[in-house]
Amino acid sequence: MTAKPDGEPPAGCAANAARILIVEDNLLNRLLIHDILTLRGHQVLEAATVDEALRALDLAIPDLLLLDVQIPGGGGEAVIRDVRSRPGLAALPIVAVTSLAMPGDRERLLGIGFQGYLSKPIDTRTFGATIESFLKNPNPAEDPLRVRCVS
Ligand code: MN
Repeated sequence: MTAKPDGEPPAGCAANAARILIVEDNLLNRLLIHDILTLRGHQVLEAATVDEALRALDLAIPDLLLLDVQIPGGGGEAVIRDVRSRPGLAALPIVAVTSLAMPGDRERLLGIGFQGYLSKPIDTRTFGATIESFLKNPNPAEDPLRVRCVS
């Protein structure tokens, strides 16, 4: 990461650059989401199973969690339960990215702790901006360890 002398973020660094954890067991979807978000200047962490997701959350608290509902090891519900039981993560925004699109799925997911719901296939034109709408106002001064942007 290189900063310009005047302190401006590097080119490609979003003003609201965030640390985003992607939990998705489909490699192609994970790569697609990774590319969309890193191109917008976000730092992306990745996990493919419930266990990997919980380990990633032990290591670093993200600003946002994108959670596939159908993942090995207990499903997205298992991740949600664990996250909501951790005091430091109680307010972490969690957005479902899922192919579950039956009537009632959206309401069910919002009812168990998801803040948002995006259905697959991912619309690459709108995905990044939609995800960013779930970010709170990040304050870099409060987290010296936060990587504000990637280069
Ligand atoms: Mn899946």
